[in-house]
Order: sequence, then structure tokens, then C-alpha cells
Amino acid sequence: MADLVVRDGYIMTLDGERPRMEKGSVLVQDGRVSSIVTDESHPSELDSAVRSVDARGRLIMPGLVNAHTHLAGCVFRGLLDDWTYPSSGLHALAFPMELELTRDDYYWLSLLGAIETVRAGSTTISDMYHHSETAAQAAHEVGLRAVIAHKVYDCDLRAVGRGDYSRSSRIRRERVGASVRLFENWHGRAGGRITCRVGAHATDTCSEDLLQQMRRMADEYGAGLHIHVAQSPAEVAHIRKMHGLSPVAYLQQLDFLRPDVEVVHLTEASGEDLDILQREGATYAHCAPRYGRSGKYPPLKEAHLDRAIPTGFGTDWLRMDMWDGMRQTASNMSLSSGEGGLLSARDLLHLCTQGAARVLGMEDELGVLRPGAAADMILIDLDRPKLQPFFGTAQNVVFHVDGGDVDGVIVAGEEIVREGRCLHVDEAEVLRQVQKRIPRFLQILERLYPAHRALTGKNLLAD
Ligand SMILES: [Zn+2]
Repeated sequence: MADLVVRDGYIMTLDGERPRMEKGSVLVQDGRVSSIVTDESHPSELDSAVRSVDARGRLIMPGLVNAHTHLAGCVFRGLLDDWTYPSSGLHALAFPMELELTRDDYYWLSLLGAIETVRAGSTTISDMYHHSETAAQAAHEVGLRAVIAHKVYDCDLRAVGRGDYSRSSRIRRERVGASVRLFENWHGRAGGRITCRVGAHATDTCSEDLLQQMRRMADEYGAGLHIHVAQSPAEVAHIRKMHGLSPVAYLQQLDFLRPDVEVVHLTEASGEDLDILQREGATYAHCAPRYGRSGKYPPLKEAHLDRAIPTGFGTDWLRMDMWDGMRQTASNMSLSSGEGGLLSARDLLHLCTQGAARVLGMEDELGVLRPGAAADMILIDLDRPKLQPFFGTAQNVVFHVDGGDVDGVIVAGEEIVREGRCLHVDEAEVLRQVQKRIPRFLQILERLYPAHRALTGKNLLAD
């Protein structure tokens, strides 16, 4: 007897080359898809399932996999959106403000980010941030599948914008300690729904010795690594000055790069860097919403299409809507290459499902609906004028669905969103907790003004 049946919808399995869509039901047992019934030939099996989700008028498809997030980074919404490349917003505002927030702030902001994430149709995230245990807790409560990493570095992030990378053994001890606690408390929790990775923040904010320690930790835990690489000219300049190498070549020299390493951004990566990543088998998380306005586009075509480096999409931190990211990528790729249609809708869907699952080493489990795969799926309400006529093509999905069209979400066979609302957390309370913090967040911003002006010559809230 099945634990759950998701019944009488239109199913897009994303299994195989075509985004096959058929009318039918998905049966779930022990958190996994047990069978996909595309006609009514097994009515007794459907009727005998313990629980049932009505999917009439809904598209049932695999949940999206978001390969790079900072859930609590939603605090910078409306503050960093205008900040363009290279990285003054990061150095002048984000890094110092992140250190002023409390553990409770991270908890409530992570819950807000997790709610936004699932309501927009992602069922898995790969997160790296401060107070990472709060992100694990938030993912656990909301019902998300999550790969959590602690943000480890060993310099004062407030000083990096001035080019001061002085190493601190105290910061290193604290950060590594928190990473170990994260693994002890969360790795494999919630029936395996929450796992951990080792999070090295970036090639410049971690010393050589710390990067090597992180690599050893990952080997000991048998877990992967998550790291921002070649994300800004400042990072590239620092690594070149210290080691005479690009960030990617430096990581290779440290024997850091393996197939279990997720590198994020690569905005400044060269063709030789991509050759190295391809040889070492490292994977790439590309965060489309971040790049378009910056005027500097990472080499997605060269990484994904030319070299077949395993690639998946992430959102980074200000918005968690993967649909928006797919469409931005389609435009960004065409504009940056001068060539239209380089990525098809099917490719874009792949990058947000099995492609991103591959980045996390979970390609057999996630991003596809077939017997044996995780029962992670989303229901899209097709009875909306903007989605009709719906022909069941990848183009229908990629170019016309928005996060707000996601009506139901199921993770590991558990229904976590129904009629667009999270079932297991009090959304109103999360909003209240975040809103009541806004005055204090503004006080922190005001305290940061002098340092901010010194770095940027701008007035933060004047624009
Ligand atoms: Zn990031």
C-alpha cells in the first residue's frame, strides 16, 4: 500500500530527453516514488493509498534544486539589488552587517528564506552562511531538503574591502568549530533530508593552510565542499599577488579540486581555469539573478556547453525564484554571446533540476520523477490565464511559470505546501518576527555608514 498518491494531474517526469507530459498519478512509498500511473488501470492501488493529494488541473513535476543559497541573505533585499560589479556592496555593506546580526536574526531570516524558497518551487537547497545551524533548523521546520555548509574563513571580513587579509587564529578556531558542530548536529538528520558540506567561503578569505584543512575535513566526513571562486577582481588580484596564480589554478595546486567540490560564480574565470575544472571534475553553481545587471557575465557557455562541466543553477540571496533565473539566463546568454537560443527551455529546466542535483552529487535521487527517485515534487496550478494554452512543453514551463504559480510542494513524500502556503510553519509569525527587526537593521546600517562611504563614496539609503 502506498503512503501517498498525488492524483489525477498532468505529469512531467523530466526523465529522458523529452519533458514527457501525461495525465496520471504518482505513488509514493517511504519517501520515494514507487510508481507513476499514467492511466486508470490500477484504481485499487490509487484508492488504497494512505494519503491523497488532489492534483486535478495541476502540473506535477520534480521539485527544483537550488545549488547555491544564503537563506538569511534576504535581509539585503532592497539594499544590495542596485549594487553592481565588482564587489563594493559585499565589502562595504554585506560583510560588516552580517557580523552584526544575532543568531536569532539568522534563525528568523532563514525561516523567511526557506518559506520563500519552497513556495517558489525549490525542494532542495545548498546553503552556506553564518550561524549555519539556524539554516538547518529552518529547512528542517519548513520541510526542505537541504545541504548545509558553515561559512568558514580566517580573516576579518570587515577589513577585506581595504585589502587587509591579516589572518586570525581566533576567527579560524571559531569558524572551524562551528563547522564541526554543524556536522555533529545535522549531518544525515531528518531521515537524511538534511546533510552537510564543508563550506570554505572563498579563495581569498581563507588562508592556504585553512583551505587544506577544509579539504581534509571533507575527506574525513566523506562530504563535499562548497566555495565561492573567482567571484571578484579583488579576489583574483589577491591570489595572484600572493601565489602568482588564478584562484582556480591555486586550488588545483592545493589539490583541493575534486568531483565533490561545488565552485560558485566563476565570474572572473579564464578558459585555462575552466580546463582545470573540467580535468579535475569539479562542479559549477551559476547564480543567474546576480549577474545580469552587473555587466560581467560568467563563462556559462564555455563551462556548460563547450566543456560539459557539471553545472546547475542557484539563486544566491536576494530572490529565491528559479524561474526568474532561468529566463534571465536565456537572455543573458544570448546577449553575452551575440547568439540567440544557445540554451533551450529543456536545457534551462535541466540546469534547475538534474543539473543542480549533479552539482550536489545527488543526480540519481533528485530532479526527476521515476520509481526509486526521491518523492520531491511540485504542483503548478494550470488554471490560470497566463499559463494557457498549456501544451506541456518545456517552453510553457520555463517562459511562463512563476514562483507564485506553485500551488503544492511535496518533499520526501511529505506535503509541505498546500494552496501556496507552508503547512508546517506559522508564516504570519515569521513575517512578524522579521518585520519587528527592521528598525534594528536600520540602526546597524546607520552605524555602518562611515565605513561604507569611505569605500564607495555613496550614501547607502539615499538612492
Ligand atoms: Zn554566494
